[in-house]
Amino acid sequence: MRRETVARPDAIRRHNLGLLLGHVHRDGELTRAQLTQRLALSRSTIGALVADLTESGLLDERVPNGGERAGRPSHVVAPREDGPYAVAVDVDVSRVSCAAVGIGGHVLARHAVANTEPASARLTATLIAESIDALAQQMKPGAWPVGIGVSVPGTVSRTDAMVEFAPNLGWRDEPFGKLLSSVVPEGFAVAVGNDADVAMMAEHLRGAARDCDDAVFLMGRIGVGAGVIANGSPLRGRDGHAGEVGHNVVDASGPRCHCGKRGCVETYVGDKALLKLAGRRRLPTSESVAALFADARGGDERAATAVRTVARSLGHTVATLVNVLNPERVILGGSLAGVFEFAADEVAAAMDEYAMSVAHEAVQLCTPGLGADSTLLGSAELAFARLLADPLAR
Ligand SMILES: [Zn+2]
Repeated sequence: MRRETVARPDAIRRHNLGLLLGHVHRDGELTRAQLTQRLALSRSTIGALVADLTESGLLDERVPNGGERAGRPSHVVAPREDGPYAVAVDVDVSRVSCAAVGIGGHVLARHAVANTEPASARLTATLIAESIDALAQQMKPGAWPVGIGVSVPGTVSRTDAMVEFAPNLGWRDEPFGKLLSSVVPEGFAVAVGNDADVAMMAEHLRGAARDCDDAVFLMGRIGVGAGVIANGSPLRGRDGHAGEVGHNVVDASGPRCHCGKRGCVETYVGDKALLKLAGRRRLPTSESVAALFADARGGDERAATAVRTVARSLGHTVATLVNVLNPERVILGGSLAGVFEFAADEVAAAMDEYAMSVAHEAVQLCTPGLGADSTLLGSAELAFARLLADPLAR
């Protein structure tokens, strides 16, 4: 009992440290006056919290110059480039992209490895472990990693970072979190999530859904999946598999899907469908898909028709999501952003046809506010979660 009463003030302080760090992490540099207002704490308490965070090497504080006139300018609290960073990883079928992401969501360094075919879970873990060093070499002296956050295009168990099913990677029941932990330096915390889920998280924090508590991120690469924010919180489902719309069957006599079924959404909306419709035999990579979009814009009629055809299937998929989830915003990521930019009219026409009018009227479609980095920045959030929850627990 005695221990509990002694611990309480410390617990409150740690909670407040996490809140303060969270504000600077989401919004970048803020003045002490802004922090005082946001946290509704006294100026002296904010001063003490800032001192704790600067002494721990988590944040920097400086006095803005040019304060010649009467009145003291408020100190500015900011992320530091030689402070903590997350090793963020986006595992895709043709590429493993890694980045060092600092407090504030700034990408400080990048490293990517292209694959001609999907890498096994073990090889992927090794590639990531090698990337940790490649990133560290680009960082300022003194900067230190808080852990690794990895996103994969598949279903990930909430409890043990097991990748249960990633059909386009060819992974099934891979203990990926454990595999990765066994090859990275000791003490490195590892977190794994689904690519669309983490992209949604990043867009909700700083991107196109920042001010919006009911949103869907529909990710389309080779596979298709959705991340959902409902009433301000991630919608996960019992096991963490909510949003696997890519394997909803549209037509049971349709094309064979990697998952074993026929006519799944991703056989109509994913990158393979796009390239096939355009008559291209190239591997589905971000480069081959970008080239197809460029050709469509340049007047290549077959490429343009392929994008419009996919746009209609995309509109149908979005209509289903809108009917079920009634979101305020649907963010179209990966190659779906390119489809939407080129053929928004076709997407809208299919939505008119398939969505219930009430839900349809309320929804806005858009592309990611964080560009192509939503997934990487969301992966970084997986790694930052522990630090933000308790900044002094290192
Ligand atoms: Zn499927």
